[in-house]
Amino acid sequence: MSTGTRTGIVYDDRYLLHETGKHPERKARLKSVMSYLEEKKVLDKLELIKPRKAAVEEVKFVHTRKYIEHVENYCAKGYDALDMDTMICKDSYEVGLLSAGGALTAVDKVMKDELDNVFVLGRPPGHHAEPGRGMGFCLFNNAAIASCYAMREYKLERVLIVDWDVHHGNGTELIFYHDPRVLFFSVHQSPAYPGTGAADEVGASKGKGYTINVPLPPYSGDDDYEQIFREILVPVCDEYKPQMVIVSSGYDAHQNDPLAGMVLSSQAYGMMAGIVKEIANKHCGGKVVLLLEGGYNLNALAESVFHVLNTLAGWGMVSNKSEGKILPRQSTRTNINIVKSAHKPFWSIFGKHGI
Ligand SMILES: [Zn+2]
Repeated sequence: MSTGTRTGIVYDDRYLLHETGKHPERKARLKSVMSYLEEKKVLDKLELIKPRKAAVEEVKFVHTRKYIEHVENYCAKGYDALDMDTMICKDSYEVGLLSAGGALTAVDKVMKDELDNVFVLGRPPGHHAEPGRGMGFCLFNNAAIASCYAMREYKLERVLIVDWDVHHGNGTELIFYHDPRVLFFSVHQSPAYPGTGAADEVGASKGKGYTINVPLPPYSGDDDYEQIFREILVPVCDEYKPQMVIVSSGYDAHQNDPLAGMVLSSQAYGMMAGIVKEIANKHCGGKVVLLLEGGYNLNALAESVFHVLNTLAGWGMVSNKSEGKILPRQSTRTNINIVKSAHKPFWSIFGKHGI
């Protein structure tokens, strides 16, 4: 019998040193989550973990030396942005290494079986960062660096990345587009920034079938997401059998988020975490690492993260069922069929023929 789930949270005040001024990706985001968890009196139910800093050699698993030096130089010289929407300050390079390092710390905790699952409350976020450029508020691709680390350090051959941020994780997709060792699953709003993530982007060469994109129109809600997770992600994982799960967990598909147009409730994040946890329990002893990506309404972010932790740790403090749910739309059925048909050649569950 289970003796309860061991859940950790990686956090460090140094994550606040990445100053971005009035930008939506700001330090108040982490403060809001921490004070909400304090208010709910759950911090002492979690193992609080300090992150280590990622070594440059580890960041080089996915980024070019030239790009890493570019970030370091821009920060050292006092520039305030990498591009039009990716702000930096003099400390951002170091905080970027600490954000990636938090993901590595979390991977160690679950792979050494010291904890079942770990939530990394870090910033800057990562899923838009490509090998040679940062973009979309992201400096280093934390999820990709963590996946590469898990494959090298723990000899994993099948890592699942679930990206439920409202934006497509273009950086993560690009990094693993040819790589069957990482299954990248992304649900995102379309059309929206950064414009990638069509259903027919399925991976290339040996990586064909290992990129699964589910683009959805604005106003998609809880039931749309649940149906997609149940009908696409769960059966694919039964076939793929991931050895660890990493979640690019953004909270900007929330109905109150100022940057996007989806209508998820806070409870929906508990629901999605629950499905991910079921997958991990079934295939890899519950090993899940969640990394913070977007989410710009401070209250919505804090409440949603609380729902995720409640599910991960099994506190049973709140229900994952939202009131007044919006039923799945006909367009969601159509979108699921489009994704299934794009992936029919690669997965038996969708009709791939045996050899
Ligand atoms: Zn986002």
